[in-house]
Amino acid sequence: MRQMIIGNWKMHGLRKAGTDLASAITTEIGTILKERDVVLAPPFTLLHHLFPLLSEHGVGLGAQDCHAEIEGAYTGDISAGMLADSGVSHVILGHSERREHHHEYNALIKRKVMRAREFGLCPVVCVGESGRQKEENLAEEWLGKQITECLPPDFDGIVAYEPIWAIGTGKAATQQDIESRLTFLHDALARHLETDDKSMRVLYGGSVKPEDAASILAVPGVGGVLVGGASLSARSFLGIARAG
Ligand code: 13P
Repeated sequence: MRQMIIGNWKMHGLRKAGTDLASAITTEIGTILKERDVVLAPPFTLLHHLFPLLSEHGVGLGAQDCHAEIEGAYTGDISAGMLADSGVSHVILGHSERREHHHEYNALIKRKVMRAREFGLCPVVCVGESGRQKEENLAEEWLGKQITECLPPDFDGIVAYEPIWAIGTGKAATQQDIESRLTFLHDALARHLETDDKSMRVLYGGSVKPEDAASILAVPGVGGVLVGGASLSARSFLGIARAG
């Protein structure tokens, strides 16, 4: 399976800085794309602007959310159709920052996932436990619930395992932790989707840096990485994308 490297820019990037970053990444992306798939997820305001550059270089364009409805009186929201119309190929859904700050919950995320599929977008669905759940040994129960409640039975997108305690903290999960969670998630996915196929892409995200990218990308079963902070520098993002 080809691994995928996704850069989630979160709420960073004015036009000049975003264009410079995307240009610096695409200039050197050719050899990386022989081995891995790369997607950049800038803020909504840059999607339209960056699409020609990214598509010319074979880099996917990702968005960071979409609304669950097709259209309507939802001031400030962006629909899956609008994303598809802007050249978007992937959409990150259920990120823990949206769950926390926008009160997103599993059933809503499932509706977004289905809407994204309807418009031909590949959903990248984030799951992950809090530090407290980890300490109290509740992580697997929580992750299992996120899988069954966020994913429709015909789900064919990507799952990203992002432990909340590892996001933005500089402390990535250990190789052993990632491997055991990925095994759990692959099993939970196979059960939920009623398939024996365990090749669905499950990415890891949470403080991925160039220094530890090679060891994370070598974890058995890891489908790639979802990178936050380190995706804001071309040098570190390329370092991650090339690692291993
Ligand atoms: P950091 O890489 O900054 O920890 O963010 C991870 C993340 O949330 C990617 O979606």
